[in-house]
Amino acid sequence: MTEPLSERTPSDWKTLAAGLRIRSQAFIDGRFRDAADGRTFETVNPATGVKIADIAACDAADVDLAVAAARRSFEAGVWSRRDPTERRRVLVRLADLILAHGEELALLETLDMGKLLRDSATLDIPTSAEVFRWYGEACDKLNGEVVRAGEGAFALIDREPVGVIGAVVPWNFPLKMAAWKCAPALAAGNSVILKPAEQSPLTALRLAELAAEAGIPDGVFNVLPGFGHEAGQAIGLHEGIDCVAFTGSTEIGKRFLTYAGASNMKRIWLECGGKSANLVFPQTKDLDRAAGFAAQGIFFNQGEVCSATSRVFVHRSIAEAFTERLLAKVDAYRPGDPLDPASGMGAMVTEEHTRRVMDYIAIGSESATLACGGERVLTETGGCFVAPTVFTGVDPLSRIAREEVFGPVLAISTFEDEAEAVRLANDSIYGLGASVWTDDLGQAHRVARALHVGSVSVNTVDAVDVRTPFGGVKQSGSGRDLSLHAFDKYTDLKTTWISL
Ligand code: NAD
Ligand code: MG
Repeated sequence: MTEPLSERTPSDWKTLAAGLRIRSQAFIDGRFRDAADGRTFETVNPATGVKIADIAACDAADVDLAVAAARRSFEAGVWSRRDPTERRRVLVRLADLILAHGEELALLETLDMGKLLRDSATLDIPTSAEVFRWYGEACDKLNGEVVRAGEGAFALIDREPVGVIGAVVPWNFPLKMAAWKCAPALAAGNSVILKPAEQSPLTALRLAELAAEAGIPDGVFNVLPGFGHEAGQAIGLHEGIDCVAFTGSTEIGKRFLTYAGASNMKRIWLECGGKSANLVFPQTKDLDRAAGFAAQGIFFNQGEVCSATSRVFVHRSIAEAFTERLLAKVDAYRPGDPLDPASGMGAMVTEEHTRRVMDYIAIGSESATLACGGERVLTETGGCFVAPTVFTGVDPLSRIAREEVFGPVLAISTFEDEAEAVRLANDSIYGLGASVWTDDLGQAHRVARALHVGSVSVNTVDAVDVRTPFGGVKQSGSGRDLSLHAFDKYTDLKTTWISL
């Protein structure tokens, strides 16, 4: 797989796909193995409805094995006490291996969960490699603090790895979410058990193999595919796991809090749902650009993005002009075969999720105006495709404006003044992200400050970068992925007071 992506045709990709070797077993203590009881589940390509493989369905018995291996490796110090410079070399090598196998990983991701191959190949896989590289590079640059505690003493504040980390991730960015959790957790010296979503286990299993090839010792990185109520719950309840980092729905995030309370009070870090607002003020000069980003903010990745700007609030005076421009952008997002570079969106992750999104469209149609889309799209490959959908005249109190649809469905409402815009944006159980469009610098800062969210993007949407923290407030969760602040989740502060 060496030719650049742009020179491959859909039929080239299909040939490559037919030759892929699928890793279908769990990866525990440095080797692939079946689930303890031999059970499997099917993973399906949602663009075609065709089964890809039978995957090991891990449950509590497998979690026990993985925790034992992770604990053993952690206590032995083969990784946790390894010179950080060596951890750096291994993680940077893993980043290189991810890039070297980029086409294969991109194909696995797209076949497994339906996103555009173009996006897998140019965004998901390279940014996952970048995250491993970034945290690898950070490994040997983190130092503790020295406190001058008066004449008779001084104190050291150091960071220690927490121990065994469970990472439970969703299907919308399978490798990327795995990287966001595992890279800083491993960089800090922890042992990790990763549970990919049952809809999209393939890249995580390949990552396990690449991690071993890069030099991560046996037991330090384990991957357990399986169902949430089996493998996921067993991770949440396990007494031998010190911390769980979760990305997924708010409903399941809450369950992890109860798992922790019912077991060993493990630390729980949650990245959950969102209903991010995109505020378009009349002070914005380039309405066309704002409209283009508004479309991208909801239609990228089929709208299966926790921080998708699924609510647009636009000032009444520019609402018509803005909506007209937005609707002119929608054609570019026509869904189709994810392998075809001409497609504008890929397939929804499953038939079940497609139906859920269609139910929300029916609910929206009862109270708002359907300005475009609203239907399932039949393509040559069949599959789970939903047309990019825009509702206008949306009542901010209606369900389509308040609940997370997790699909290509945009709700547009209007506001009269800045105070109302901020009030409407903040009137949500979620607080993940928000966008602000204005060329008035004072207004940009004022509104950004007033928004109760983890990230505000000004004159863009959903700005995410490994250098800056990502995460939410309210029921969008707690803790931050990315940036050096992610180490706060995977390390404990240790004070050593020295009396002189
Ligand atoms: P989900 O919560 O159903 O699943 C997420 C993970 O939790 C999966 O690995 C799943 O197997 C596991 N799980 C499911 N039930 C479980 C249980 N009872 N006990 C333990 N684990 C369980 O979410 P999903 O439908 O896969 O993903 C979509 C959701 O994820 C959306 O709500 C979206 O907002 C959220 N999400 C959030 C972010 C973020 O960073 N905030 C990022 C991506 C997705
Ligand atoms: Mg799948």
